[in-house]
Amino acid sequence: MKRMIYLDHAATTAVRPEVLKAMIPYFGEKYGNPSSIYDFASISKTAIRSARSAVASLIGADERDIYFTGGGSEADNWAIKCAAEAYSHRGHHIITSKIEHHAVLHTCQYLERCGYSVTYLTPDESGIISPRALRTAIRPDTILVSIMTANNEIGTIEPIRELGQICRERGILFHTDAVQALGQIPMHAEKMNIDLLSASAHKLQGPKGVGCLYIRPGISIGPLIHGGGQERHRRAGTENVPGIVGFGKAAQLALAEMNTRAKKERELRDYLIRSVLSQIPYSRLNGSPSSRLPGNVNFSFQFVEGESLLIMLDMEGICASSGSACTSGSVDPSHVLLAIGLPEEIARGSIRFTIGEENTREEMDYVVQKLVSIVSRLREMSPAYEAFSSKRK
Ligand SMILES: *Cc1c(COP(=O)(O)O)cnc(C)c1O
Repeated sequence: MKRMIYLDHAATTAVRPEVLKAMIPYFGEKYGNPSSIYDFASISKTAIRSARSAVASLIGADERDIYFTGGGSEADNWAIKCAAEAYSHRGHHIITSKIEHHAVLHTCQYLERCGYSVTYLTPDESGIISPRALRTAIRPDTILVSIMTANNEIGTIEPIRELGQICRERGILFHTDAVQALGQIPMHAEKMNIDLLSASAHKLQGPKGVGCLYIRPGISIGPLIHGGGQERHRRAGTENVPGIVGFGKAAQLALAEMNTRAKKERELRDYLIRSVLSQIPYSRLNGSPSSRLPGNVNFSFQFVEGESLLIMLDMEGICASSGSACTSGSVDPSHVLLAIGLPEEIARGSIRFTIGEENTREEMDYVVQKLVSIVSRLREMSPAYEAFSSKRK
């Protein structure tokens, strides 16, 4: 089989063998519906309960404040739509940022069509949303602020505690999309002044299609999904028992191993950054050098198309990503890279590598070696590079 180096852990991760093992019985012999009365069903109910407690521990919360959902996107939709609805008697203004995940951005755009007004904060050049910018944007009719804990493209970690503090002082709800941060950096919902927090299992070696919303006690928002009384009447639908069990196991492992894993990823990350910046001219690191997720690397290479780079890396067995979005046949540069002020042509030449615990230093060397030769080959084919280098002679 062809060699594969997986460097796209921000897109999804492999389910850990321990997680899969924990899930399997709930596809098979332990199939009871947790809402049923007989003893057999209580096996499923108990399993959900311990998963809820494991997920709660990861964010320093009480298990009663965790509500399982069908993933991170659902949690974002629920938090934003239902908070907007519940607090509409107080105002119709929402504040978010230009670098949020589309699950937040497109939900906010939907609310704009419903008559809400939304302010999209611009980050600084490293992707940080400043508390000062938030303070300035707040209006008397602001009801909700949604700022991600860490960005999925450039890995920037936001000053969540400070942002949350500002909201708390003014009685404004504060939501954070913590999907990328969870399991990567320590989180504590209460200490970080968070009212609503979205998470997803598949970004931390759990299964796809399951996530959760943390709702701080006393915050009253209605359900997004109406129906039965599951999740204390806040999220209807028969529970995804195997998925929830897997999420719980993944959360437990993530908490136990966070420090050692982050240390390893950080070392590989910094090694990859140093090697690329020193060996490839006209390259830059996007995002913050310091306030950065342990596994995130995002480069721009001048005179190169990110999409061509991705395809050529794929031919060498390397899985990476660009933040670009394919809309109606043309490739749009990443909204995150444009928001941090990159010119379009630089943003187009960008690529993201996200490291996981199974990656090795030897793999980094392989990637750097391939990158050096691919970038130089692509530049040789670039008219812009030719014009640039002939001018320099
Ligand atoms: C992946 C991701 C989501 C979406 O989560 P799903 O479980 O895939 O729906 C939301 N926000 C961020 C920051 C993400 O990285």
